[in-house]
Amino acid sequence: KANHDVVIIGGGAAGQAVAASLLKRKPSLTIAIVEPNNEHYYQPGWTLVGGGVFERSETSRAMKDIMPDSVHWYHAAAASFTPEHHSITLENGESISYRALIVAPGLILDWDAIPGLKDSLGKYGVTSNYRIDLAPYTWELVQSTQQGTAIFTQPPMPIKCAGAPQKAMYLSCDHWKRTGRLDNIKVEFCTAGAALFGVADYVPALMEYITEYGVELAFQTTLVSVDGPTKTARFSVIDSEGNSIEIEKQFDMLHVCPPQRAPQFVAQSQLSDDAGWLNLNSETLQHKHYGNIFGLGDCSNTPNAKTAAAVRKQAPVVAENVLMVLQGEVPRAIYDGYGSCPLTVERGKIVLAEFGYGGKLQPTFPSWLVKGTQPSRLSWFLKEKMLPWIYWNGMLKGHEWLAKPTILPHRPSDHEAAQACNF
Ligand code: FAD
Repeated sequence: KANHDVVIIGGGAAGQAVAASLLKRKPSLTIAIVEPNNEHYYQPGWTLVGGGVFERSETSRAMKDIMPDSVHWYHAAAASFTPEHHSITLENGESISYRALIVAPGLILDWDAIPGLKDSLGKYGVTSNYRIDLAPYTWELVQSTQQGTAIFTQPPMPIKCAGAPQKAMYLSCDHWKRTGRLDNIKVEFCTAGAALFGVADYVPALMEYITEYGVELAFQTTLVSVDGPTKTARFSVIDSEGNSIEIEKQFDMLHVCPPQRAPQFVAQSQLSDDAGWLNLNSETLQHKHYGNIFGLGDCSNTPNAKTAAAVRKQAPVVAENVLMVLQGEVPRAIYDGYGSCPLTVERGKIVLAEFGYGGKLQPTFPSWLVKGTQPSRLSWFLKEKMLPWIYWNGMLKGHEWLAKPTILPHRPSDHEAAQACNF
C-alpha cells in the first residue's frame, strides 16, 4: 500500500492552497493529492463571467500546471475512509495510507434536487453562474433580455459564496439600467432565507441598490421545480402565518443557485456531523474525533462563509497544525472564521463584506481606504485586478500575504492534547 506523510483529498482551492503552505514550511514532506478532475477552477471569477467582465478561460487552468512538482497526484476520486488504519480507498479500489489526512473535496451542487432544472439549464432563459459552462449564457441572456420578468433564486444555507446569487442580479440590473431597459424588466429575488444578507451591517448598502434597481424581494421563497418549455418556476413560500404554500411564477430569465450539500462519501462516513459536513474543531480545523485528520474549505461544518477567502486563511492554520501533530504536538494555530464576499453591486463598485465567526466584522483595510459596508471602487479594482493574481500566484504558491495564522504559545486543555495524540 502506498504511504505518504500527508494525503490531501481534493485539488481545488483548499487542497492546493494547503499543499503549497505545507511545502513552503517543510519541502521534504511526502504529499499526495487525490483529485479526479483535469481542470482547476477559480470560481470567484464566475460571477464576472456572468457579468460580461471576464472571459471563461480566465477562470480555469490545467490541474497538471498547478500541481506542485513534488506532489504525487492520484488522478481519481476518494471513495471511503478507514481512519483506524490511517488509510483511504479510492473509487478505483486503490488504498492509500497517511500519517496525516486533509479532507478538502468541496461541496456538491445538487441540481437534481429541483425537478426540471437540469433539463432546462442553458436554454429557455434558465441559467446559473454556479456552472462555468453556463456563466457565459447568463451574460448572453442579460444582453438579449429587453423586457419581461427576471428571477434570481437563492436556496437554503449553507451555500458557497452566499452573496453570489445577488451578485448576479446586481450586475444584470446594472447592465439593464445602463442600456435603458430596466424600467421594462421586472426583477425578483426569491430567497429561502429571511434576510437579504446574513450579516446585518451590510444590508443597508445592499438595500439602496435593491431600491435603485426596483427589485422585488421575496423572502422564505424556495425554488422547488422548473418547467423550461413553459418558462414557469414553482416556489414553496412560508406565508405570514407560518404555513407553507406553493406558487408559480412566469419568467423570461431565471438565474438559479442550486441547493448544496456535503459530498456523499463524507456524509456517509464516520467523519461527518449529523448534517453530513466534515466534523471539525472550528478553531484548529482538526477533526473532532481523529487527531491526525484535518479539513478545510467548503466541505467543513465550521460556521464561516464558504469562500475562497476563508480558504486563504484556513490553509496556513491547517499546515501549521498538521506539522505540529506530525511532531507529536498539540495543534496551536487558530482560525478565526474569516471569510469574505465581495458583493458586486454595480459594474465598478463592490460592497466588500469581510467577517468572521458570529458575523464579527474583520476588515482587511483601514476604513479611510475601504469602508466595507459602503460601495467602493477600490474594492472592485481588488476583485477584478488583484484577487485573481493573488489567488494564482500567492495562495496557490504558499505565499501567505495577510494570512499569517495566530499561533497560541501554550498547549490547550488536556482534553485537546489527548485528541491530538489519538492516532
Ligand atoms: P473547490 O474549489 O470546489 O474544490 C474541490 C475539489 O475537490 C475539486 O477540484 C473537486 O474535483 C475535488 N473533489 C470532489 N470530490 C472529490 C473526491 N471524491 N475525491 C477527490 N477529490 C474530489 N469565494 C470567494 O472567496 N469570493 C468570491 O467572490 C466567490 N464567489 C463565488 C462565486 C461562485 C459562482 C462560486 C460557485 C463560488 C464562489 N466562491 C467565492 C467560493 C469559492 O470558490 C469556494 O469557497 C472555494 O472554491 C472552496 O474551495 P474548496 O477547495 O473547498 O472547493
